[in-house]
Amino acid sequence: MPANAPIGVFDSGIGGLSVLREIRAGAGAALAGKIEDAVRSGALPAGTDAQALALLDADGPELEALAGLADALRRDAVGDDITYVVTRNINFTNVCYTGCRFCAFAQRRTDADAYTLSLAQVGDRAEEAWQAGATEVCMQGGIHPDLPGTAYFDLAAEVKRRCPDLHVHAFSPMEVVNGTARTGLPIREWLARAREAGVGSLPGTAAEILDDEVRWVLTKGKLPASAWTEVITTAHELGIPTTATMMYGHVDTPAHWVGHLRVIRGIAERTGGFTEFVLLPFVHDSAPIYLAGLARPGPTRRENRAVHALSRVMLHGAISNIQCSWVKLAGELCRDVLSGGVNDIGGTLMEETISRMAGSQQGSYRTISELAAMVTPLGRPLRQRTTLYGNPSAERLAASAASDGVCMSVRGNRTTLPVATR
Ligand code: SF4
Repeated sequence: MPANAPIGVFDSGIGGLSVLREIRAGAGAALAGKIEDAVRSGALPAGTDAQALALLDADGPELEALAGLADALRRDAVGDDITYVVTRNINFTNVCYTGCRFCAFAQRRTDADAYTLSLAQVGDRAEEAWQAGATEVCMQGGIHPDLPGTAYFDLAAEVKRRCPDLHVHAFSPMEVVNGTARTGLPIREWLARAREAGVGSLPGTAAEILDDEVRWVLTKGKLPASAWTEVITTAHELGIPTTATMMYGHVDTPAHWVGHLRVIRGIAERTGGFTEFVLLPFVHDSAPIYLAGLARPGPTRRENRAVHALSRVMLHGAISNIQCSWVKLAGELCRDVLSGGVNDIGGTLMEETISRMAGSQQGSYRTISELAAMVTPLGRPLRQRTTLYGNPSAERLAASAASDGVCMSVRGNRTTLPVATR
């Protein structure tokens, strides 16, 4: 798609830039109504980078208008339910020498906090999650230099052997590329083998910002944007759904966010394979790139609201679910963005490690009751979902309700990292 190609709902037929000037002049609510009418009548899409950037600049009444528009689009797309999945994160190793400069999770083999789980330990964690009512495990790890490229298949197969009905949401495009490099398999074949082993969907992490200049600063070019796109589109072509993510608020600018959203929309229009778009505000506290003075301390509250709302607007009609991260946003900020385009709050997680090591203060899991308490002030229904946004079985709902969505071993281990050897 050429730069500045029409995208989103900023149709010149309903005023184009003059419409945005209205927003900027504070005529927010009326304007939101106009754009919404255009959306409802099918007059979309159009819009330029300049228009989208103007929306990202919104503040005060303009921001309320943008949030109101995104909220209306959310209601049209998916209704009022706020959804979540009962899932367990299994970060099977934190040993990694890739050196991403935003990452506080990776450790060297000899570091005190380094760990690698055995297959049996991964299986145990999956079983605990199943007993706690989970419908999903999310598995991602560091790029351990000793891990063979087929280890990913073994991990997925072990989970399925122990819990055949647990959905395996696993392996970022970075891990997929690592697996292909180590096995010599083409991406398509590697993904097909992963699916045979039990992988049901891929997390669209390692997207960071899909701009190679930014990626170079963040990750020294570990995974070019084109490689991320190739893995994701190949997965979609094979019928393997993925999420899409954006990590923002570090060395990037709002123009990068718009460019990123364009790339994601373009893929979504071609493949229809994204389950959701997940916004990941940069957690700065322990991130090397922040400690080196090269990154800013994450996005502001205003930016968080604007970019969540703009994501809903720019992805309308292409991706139905917009997810915020309770791991990275405090409860009040989650409610803010849930009122401005977001419909999903991710998972109970049971054992979140990556953001916690980067300095997030939001803990490593949320019980279902805690998620409910967080969203109650919004007055919208909270609904448990499966990974692919279906309804869990009555048996799963009962099991997760009985444990409140968190397994006992994690309850008693809220702050201690798992330590094990392979
Ligand atoms: S983000 Fe992933 S690949 Fe990069 S250093 Fe951290 S663990 Fe390694």
